[in-house]
Amino acid sequence: MVSGIQLMEKVLFRFANQWIAGDTIEDALNSAQSAYKNGRHAIINKLGEYHKTKRPIRKTVAEYQKIISSFRKWKIRGAISVKPTQIGLSISQKECYKNLSEIVKTARDAHVFVWIDMESADHTDETIELYYAFFSRYERMGIALQANLKRTEDDLRDLIKNGAKIRLVKGAYKENAKIAFKSRKDVDNSYIRLMRKLFKESNEFGIATHDSKLIKKAVSLSKRYPKKFEFQMLKGIREDKKPDLIKKKFVVSDYIPYGTNWLPYSIRRIKERKRNILLLGSSLLQSQRV
Ligand SMILES: Cc1cc2nc3c(=O)[nH]c(=O)nc-3n(C[C@H](O)[C@H](O)[C@H](O)COP(=O)(O)OP(=O)(O)OC[C@H]3O[C@@H](n4cnc5c(N)ncnc54)[C@H](O)[C@@H]3O)c2cc1C
Repeated sequence: MVSGIQLMEKVLFRFANQWIAGDTIEDALNSAQSAYKNGRHAIINKLGEYHKTKRPIRKTVAEYQKIISSFRKWKIRGAISVKPTQIGLSISQKECYKNLSEIVKTARDAHVFVWIDMESADHTDETIELYYAFFSRYERMGIALQANLKRTEDDLRDLIKNGAKIRLVKGAYKENAKIAFKSRKDVDNSYIRLMRKLFKESNEFGIATHDSKLIKKAVSLSKRYPKKFEFQMLKGIREDKKPDLIKKKFVVSDYIPYGTNWLPYSIRRIKERKRNILLLGSSLLQSQRV
């Protein structure tokens, strides 16, 4: 007999499937290849974070290296995106540096771009330090900054001064009101301010959002300030919007997560949108009927 928890997990997994390539590296590469066939670039991320033991960290590093080395063979225009806590930051900064340097060495040999994801605010300083340390040695690296954090305006200014490549996101982690904008309106206004600064003063950046009004604003800023930038969206979200942007000659990248550790990522996606919670609720009810 299937228990309530097992049933819930099954429904959740079916629901999360739209956002995740599958369990394996091959699933991720297949998904990246199909993105590429649709005119998109791919950014692959292995799921799993806050690792506190060496075994999952070693596995993560080896898998990123394998992905990087496979892009050419698979004919994919791809990048990877790494979370510091999946490669050792939860053990020590030294451990994280050691592992990132292995990944970056492989990326440099293959000329592959490496993005650093930004995690919760406890890790912002360490992540920026990590980025500076590696960016000074390998230029094909970028860092995510979160518009919901009040400090981001200062971080962005400093990073731009140093020629950094930025991915601007709204921010997926629940943060304290002392350090973060809480209302949707304040976060969106902050995003617009930071995006304007990127278009005016930076080059080679990622506008990572699914929000139609922010995408429209970016399109209009790009006419005034023609810069090298790309739209970045998560796999399975706003599939209606992506072809339209590509038709207008914008670069669009799909962020493609893969792996068995799908729950925290999926919960963040579900919480982002009220409609997803309702859809999940109705899927659960339906599955109980059969
Ligand atoms: C490429 C990429 C990389 C990211 N990297 C990071 C990172 O490193 N650190 C970090 O904190 N956050 C990251 N995020 C997540 C980001 O911070 C937001 O949590 C997420 O993108 C939702 O914000 P939004 O800009 O899409 O706007 P929202 O206001 O959340 O959504 C705008 C519209 O987009 C659609 N939409 C948004 N989310 C969903 C969903 N889950 N399901 C269906 N439709 C949806 C809906 O139509 C919604 O009305 C990343 C996002 C992207 C796209």
